[in-house]
Amino acid sequence: MPAYVTIDSFTNPLDAHIARGLLESEGVPAILHSEHHVWSSWPYSFALGGVGLQVPAAFADRARDLLARQRSGEFERALLEQQDVATERCGCCGSTDLRFIRSPWLVLLMVATLGLSGVIFPPGIRGRKCNACRAVQLNA
Ligand SMILES: [Zn+2]
Repeated sequence: MPAYVTIDSFTNPLDAHIARGLLESEGVPAILHSEHHVWSSWPYSFALGGVGLQVPAAFADRARDLLARQRSGEFERALLEQQDVATERCGCCGSTDLRFIRSPWLVLLMVATLGLSGVIFPPGIRGRKCNACRAVQLNA
């Protein structure tokens, strides 16, 4: 068995699985460690340093390059071009630099629920805020 090295870590196991799936789709063998500890109690993620993404040492440089390309948005842009999907834009300035906003009360409820059960129930998305002009667009 080849020696595996940790090339990245994730607080959220779902993000770790997405990264592992990307690497495997590009022919890089990858495994996760500490995943089941984090699933059993999400706050363990901080104590364990997150869910580790590991690849054989010989694939480490290629895997880091793939993750950097993913984070730069290269694969997302290619997917949008292939599917000819319209990019969401700000209604005020036309910027595509938007972020989701959530109700602060639902976020507080999520934190309280996390403290009691260790399970995350992400609050629904309330709308979008433009990072360029700060305009808020609420869902209908
Ligand atoms: Zn804007």
